[in-house]
Amino acid sequence: MQEKINRLIRPEIRALAAYHVPEAGDMIKLDAMENPWSWPDALRDAWMEALKSAEINRYPDPSARALQADMRRVMQVPEDAGVILGNGSDELIQMIIQALAAPGRVVLAPVPTFVMYRQVSVVAGMEFAAVPLQDDFSLDAEVLLAAVEAHKPAVIFLAYPNNPTGNLFDAAILHTLLSRADGLVVIDEAYAPFTDASFMSRIGDYDNLLVLRTVSKMGLAGLRLGLLAGPPAWLEQIDKTRLPYNISVVNQLTGCFALQHADHFMRQAQEIRSQRAQLYTGLQALSSLTVYPSEANFILFRTPTGTAGDVFEGLKTAGILIKNLDGTMGALQDCLRVTVGTPAENAAFLTVLKPLLAS
Ligand SMILES: *Cc1c(COP(=O)(O)O)cnc(C)c1O
Repeated sequence: MQEKINRLIRPEIRALAAYHVPEAGDMIKLDAMENPWSWPDALRDAWMEALKSAEINRYPDPSARALQADMRRVMQVPEDAGVILGNGSDELIQMIIQALAAPGRVVLAPVPTFVMYRQVSVVAGMEFAAVPLQDDFSLDAEVLLAAVEAHKPAVIFLAYPNNPTGNLFDAAILHTLLSRADGLVVIDEAYAPFTDASFMSRIGDYDNLLVLRTVSKMGLAGLRLGLLAGPPAWLEQIDKTRLPYNISVVNQLTGCFALQHADHFMRQAQEIRSQRAQLYTGLQALSSLTVYPSEANFILFRTPTGTAGDVFEGLKTAGILIKNLDGTMGALQDCLRVTVGTPAENAAFLTVLKPLLAS
């Protein structure tokens, strides 16, 4: 069988590492940028009530019109922009790449960044050009524009704010990039609830700008629902790669229900922003760490050389799961990423972290 596998499965797929999600058990879970609060009982009951009307024997509305309208309103999509919904924004990344994929074509992104851009590109048989960020994880405009010139990418992905670094790229550089790049430029705003910066209102100013959003980081990671906005002529083509009925009856109903309570999630995002400031101060007080500023719901920090693994394991032993990025990409050596949790979770994290650094 192995011989057949080696012969039939493409070498670049065999070389891929599967996307690994560690088992959290009953640990304090600060590894995946989730909203830490579960729904209040009243909201949960109202949701169950709403689900009673689900026509589960029928196929869903293929373009999820009601949900599209709610998403447009909550995410402030410009009137004349088109919209596609995805089963998570991951699926939309896949659709964009599938619509462009051809041998020799290039997907470009600054790194370190969200690993799915590379993963999906490789699976689609495209080349992935990684442009290194500077030491403080900012964009080097010259290096970026030279790489775009050299590779002529069909599409450029920019996470804004960036994951796993947490920073926003310089908007002026992104505007230059939008006017110079011949290919599509996708601004991935997965962390929009935690920053004031956005390119959503600029759709239409450039013929190559697409904006990606998700409800995952605002508190609905379990739902799997993302939105792609951009010029209708582009979206009409990209939509052809979408499998029909990608948003289930249950997801459409639940999405509409949740977005009717959007202010509940907006308030939580505000609370997370103020908790982020406190957590940042708490981490900065630990003098052996380098802490990176964040506009997202997580904070990246660098531990003393060679200690990230021990610090990560020490936290885990104490029942706190964060993300170990050490060794994943060169620039992230000794780096750990913690998601902003509830005040109690953040305090527990800092309490456990402190003695781990001293020893
Ligand atoms: C988390 C994340 C996503 C994935 O969002 P889903 O909608 O849950 O698939 C996309 N882009 C970035 C930059 C992310 O960090």
